[in-house]
Amino acid sequence: MPEHILSGIKALVAMKMRKEGKLQKEIAEYLNMDRSIVSHYLHGRYPSDRVMKVSEVIVELPVEYGARIIHSLSNDKYIAKKLIKVIYNAKIKIEKDKCLACGACLGCEAISIEGIEVKINENRCVLCGECISKCPMNALKFVEE
Ligand code: SF4
Ligand code: SF4
Repeated sequence: MPEHILSGIKALVAMKMRKEGKLQKEIAEYLNMDRSIVSHYLHGRYPSDRVMKVSEVIVELPVEYGARIIHSLSNDKYIAKKLIKVIYNAKIKIEKDKCLACGACLGCEAISIEGIEVKINENRCVLCGECISKCPMNALKFVEE
């Protein structure tokens, strides 16, 4: 079932990218999918109605919840990141005035601390949202780019 739901989310993302003017080839490359499957999605041959309804509910959730669910459905964290990017256009931001440099968010390869300054490497961040739940100061959050 998780794979089916992930397929439903990919179908929704493919349709959103098409509406934004992306070509079928570009969508297939972005999502690392076979062009014929993307073509099916773009011509209305989706996964089942039930799967699509669940997928629609997930993509309408706030990013804090939607991102965690999408990551739990996908074994490929970079594909999950790409889906989250299209759906939410979000990135992780740190509010420096709230951060105590406690180090609770360290452990993720995207986060480092230099002196008392915490830095997030956007290229390495896969938008999983786990650091948000670790921060006792609510200094980390998703923001729209
Ligand atoms: S969202 Fe995930 S990958 Fe990005 S900085 Fe936070 S824990 Fe690391
Ligand atoms: S967990 Fe929060 S307060 Fe602690 S270092 Fe990370 S961002 Fe700063």
